Amino acid sequence: MFIAKRNDINHIYTGKEIQTLISQSHYPTLEYNFSCPICNREVEYNGLSTKYLLDFFVHKDGTPDCFAAESISGGHQIVAEITVKALHNRINELTGEPVEINVEKWIGTQPNFVIADVKITNPVQIAAEIYHKASKLALYRRLRRMFSNGYRTYLIFHTGGRHDVDRVEQYIQRIAPLKVGRFNPETLELTLGDLFTEEQVKLSRYNRELLPRYVR
Ligand SMILES: [Zn+2]
Repeated sequence: MFIAKRNDINHIYTGKEIQTLISQSHYPTLEYNFSCPICNREVEYNGLSTKYLLDFFVHKDGTPDCFAAESISGGHQIVAEITVKALHNRINELTGEPVEINVEKWIGTQPNFVIADVKITNPVQIAAEIYHKASKLALYRRLRRMFSNGYRTYLIFHTGGRHDVDRVEQYIQRIAPLKVGRFNPETLELTLGDLFTEEQVKLSRYNRELLPRYVR
């Protein structure tokens, strides 16, 4: 994984930020304990021996990476991790409470579930949907299921992904006055955009017809 949580201050850093901290200090090791933001197992910093971002941190006990899965590409994983970092730190700063996070987890029950890329379960229910290679956004189905299960969501687009993000955003703004999030793979910068809520997105049949098929 590329991110880890510093246990004493409950703040998530990227491996790159840790690299900078280490290079500025006199000690070639970390002075703090870090844990996995998903399972809270202790992690080890590997950034001095690898250039591969997703290997910057590993579980100390050798168990598989919580962010990695066969079905997930590296490009998708890095967005999920940076999204977890942004949401965790923001919610923690606002509420002062520990933030519980899952990745690739169901929201709702069969047959009305949706798999959220990032799912915050506590202290607020917020999801994030990441669009990278998917050809169809399935916006109506996803948003309906999230809203009906009490989740609000961010929609985050990889700018090197399948869709022209500005165009998709213009389509979405036909039904809601909201901005989508963007992840820039060159700079690793993320903007979350606006939180999509049931009050602000009008999922009517009429609105559905205003969207191209790949978006609706
Ligand atoms: Zn873990």
